[in-house]
Amino acid sequence: MKIKHIDHIGIAVKSIDQAKKFYTEILGLKIEGIENVADQKVNVAFLPITDSELELVESTHPDGPVAKYIEARGEGIQHIAFRVEDIEEALAELKEKGVRLIDEKPRKGAGGAKIAFIHPKETNGVLVEICERD
Ligand code: ZN
Repeated sequence: MKIKHIDHIGIAVKSIDQAKKFYTEILGLKIEGIENVADQKVNVAFLPITDSELELVESTHPDGPVAKYIEARGEGIQHIAFRVEDIEEALAELKEKGVRLIDEKPRKGAGGAKIAFIHPKETNGVLVEICERD
């Protein structure tokens, strides 16, 4: 598969409103938009940095995956996403190599991306996302 660059780093936060202060007021980054991803029960704030971005991810529901993540591990880097040219091809290649996947098929992520997660057992505990955008 062809990995183009780091697409984004997902940071689990309790509150975008609280967390954004450091990134905007201290680092001078800009929030390009905030999107609700209903099926993940999260709001996602996008802070672009060249070809990549930070995503501040807050849970909208106490039983959502990000709320559970924060409960178990605290706030912090939750996942890293690599941009690929062709996600279907990348998933086929990973399956062929016997890599455990969380998502066998691409699903819709924030910002209109097609995304899939690799199982963290395969990646030394890092939750890796691959994503494709037009
Ligand atoms: Zn992501």
